Amino acid sequence: MSIEVRNIQKTFHGTTPALHNVTASIREGELIGFLGPSGSGKTTLLRIIAGLETQSAGQVLIDGRVVDELPPQQRGVGFVFQSYALFKHMTVFDNIAYGLRVQKKGKQEVRARVKELLNFVHLAGFEHRYPHQLSGGQAQRVALARALAPRPKILLLDEPFAAIDTKIRKELRQWIRHVHDELGITSIFVTHDQEEALEIADRVLVMNQGKVEQLGTPEEVYESPASLFVANFVGEANHYAGTAKGGRVAFGPMQVPAPAYPDGCRLHVVIRPSDVKLRESTAEGDVVGEVAHVSYRGNFYAVEVTLRDDTRILAYASKAQDHLLNTGTRVAIEVTGCRLFEEGPV
Ligand code: ADP
Ligand code: MG
Repeated sequence: MSIEVRNIQKTFHGTTPALHNVTASIREGELIGFLGPSGSGKTTLLRIIAGLETQSAGQVLIDGRVVDELPPQQRGVGFVFQSYALFKHMTVFDNIAYGLRVQKKGKQEVRARVKELLNFVHLAGFEHRYPHQLSGGQAQRVALARALAPRPKILLLDEPFAAIDTKIRKELRQWIRHVHDELGITSIFVTHDQEEALEIADRVLVMNQGKVEQLGTPEEVYESPASLFVANFVGEANHYAGTAKGGRVAFGPMQVPAPAYPDGCRLHVVIRPSDVKLRESTAEGDVVGEVAHVSYRGNFYAVEVTLRDDTRILAYASKAQDHLLNTGTRVAIEVTGCRLFEEGPV
């Protein structure tokens, strides 16, 4: 089912708005990541879609139909929360069966469905355990089974793995992608972790201070950020400020073309480390610097280079370049791409 939010506004009694004019369209079958720093309004937006919170203004449409008057249980939505919101006094079986019993399903049907779900979340044999007898990852798999039991068409996940160790969290998010694809549902996955969002989402909704900054594919938000905020928040970035002059903008010893901007225009320059090339300095006029710090990132290196005027730049280098990667080595840098943002009112 598709999900649409139109001009959603949310103010919690007299404070500054938690959501400001949020409009977005999610297509049937998509896995969307809501990405933003803590307090940016992700949970509030998700709860409004689920019907657990009422917006101050605006509309929510599911499958093209306004659902603002519908209670959560009639919206066909399954919800997994950040904290393990399992019922502590109930077994795994009863937790998963909960929604089915609310729907007054027969005993046989409940039994069969819970069994099916336990297999689906790889927890067959765990039905008699209590939540305190589960690891964090297992508890969240039970929470997912419980959310899926009534066969929702939409699955909402609010930082479901935030409290789980990195390695297991990575496995679980791959698994969520798999679950999503297998069930053919529409899902929203909330996270403050950009790596997590880029890795599993079809498209990412980037939020900041209650506003939508961008809705796009992982490639779009990374390679063509719509705002300075997105450029800085999604992926690593070098960030400088300068003033346009003669169709260029200079910062420290570097300069890049800025033909679209008049002289005197204040600009933010954002350069991805992957757009900074390192080589041996050979020619007069090279922009040169000294390798200040190298960190190993698995299949590449992140190299911090100190340039003239104490300007620093982060570059990614391959293993083939390891002859350049000693602290103090003199290198030439070349910027092969950048994004410019006009300095505006914040
Ligand atoms: P996120 O999930 O991105 O961290 P939230 O949606 O939880 O952000 O919060 C957005 C803003 O709304 C924050 O400033 C938060 O303090 C505020 N907020 C959220 N829930 C409530 C509430 N029940 N009462 C008052 N303020 C709230
Ligand atoms: Mg939240």
